[in-house]
Amino acid sequence: MTDRISTGGDIDAYCTKCKLKLEHFVLAIVDGAVVKVKCKTCGSIHKFKGTPAARPKAPRKPSTSAKSFVSTQAQWETAVDTAHGPDLPYDMESSFRAGDLIVHNFFGKGVVLKTYVGKCSVLFRDKERLLATSNT
Ligand SMILES: [Zn+2]
Repeated sequence: MTDRISTGGDIDAYCTKCKLKLEHFVLAIVDGAVVKVKCKTCGSIHKFKGTPAARPKAPRKPSTSAKSFVSTQAQWETAVDTAHGPDLPYDMESSFRAGDLIVHNFFGKGVVLKTYVGKCSVLFRDKERLLATSNT
């Protein structure tokens, strides 16, 4: 499966000006490789870094990810409702039990789904994450 890339098409590239990986327009292709791109964010034109063939990144369909986000959020809301309180601040030095409600600095409220040795899986509003804990 080859991604057909043509001039004028979109490509994810590292923008040397924005210093971020952003969507670019393809401006020039040599021997099937993108050589020149234009940043959609800042409009700067620069060389394309990396070969597109080496990264067969499947384009994410926004509709699919939006759907899975909604269902994760619904799951999360139910889990938070049924979790036993109080909210425990997340700390990797602590150990948690399945059903515990925890509050993470970055990810916010989460509910512990499963515990493992040294970690536990926690359902956050957007997705499930593995967190380091001192579970034994
Ligand atoms: Zn840019």
